[in-house]
Amino acid sequence: MRIYCATGNPGKLREFRLTGELLGIDVAPLENLKALEAPEETGATFEENACLKAVYYSRFASGPLFADDSGLAVDALGGEPGVYSARYAGEGAADAANNALLLERMANVEDRSARFVCVIALAEAGVVKATFRGEVAGTILHAAHGPGGFGYDPLFYFPQYGCSFGEVDGAKKFSVSHRGVALRKMLEYLTVGH
Ligand code: IMP
Repeated sequence: MRIYCATGNPGKLREFRLTGELLGIDVAPLENLKALEAPEETGATFEENACLKAVYYSRFASGPLFADDSGLAVDALGGEPGVYSARYAGEGAADAANNALLLERMANVEDRSARFVCVIALAEAGVVKATFRGEVAGTILHAAHGPGGFGYDPLFYFPQYGCSFGEVDGAKKFSVSHRGVALRKMLEYLTVGH
């Protein structure tokens, strides 16, 4: 089975393809994604943004397509950076700048609980078929740990592994991550039926 994936984020694509491979499903990047103007992510929730991306990009795919919206929600910051995770330090901000801002906001904060959230929307020809949500809970470290992952991974401590997401390989992270949970829900929906 082939399913198209609309993401311009190489970190996310790598993780989606890896899980697809393990399950015998070809997760293919939408070929002309870079040539298309990206839709503005105007939604107030992960669900709204995932759906608007899936609806838009599925019009350019020759089969089912999914898009995800994901981010970090920190309890002490009222769920921030949330849907603004990729642009926390400003439009087009690099991971390093977003991470630095998060550390600054968390400087004197005791409750460091947080979760990564991912919502995947599956669509075909401009119509959403279903959405799938995954979450993983952890805490925010006081400094970056590990060279791996992307985004906020080096700041996200996962207690069950006793280290940050920046210190584990992609397969190990994906077996528990918000994105892994959401993707497996979608693949189950596609393979088991509904
Ligand atoms: P999106 O592309 O609008 O979904 O934004 C996702 C942003 O959330 C990324 O750019 C990261 O900053 C953050 N994020 C989402 N998932 C992860 C993850 O698995 N690890 C680290 N950061 C993540």
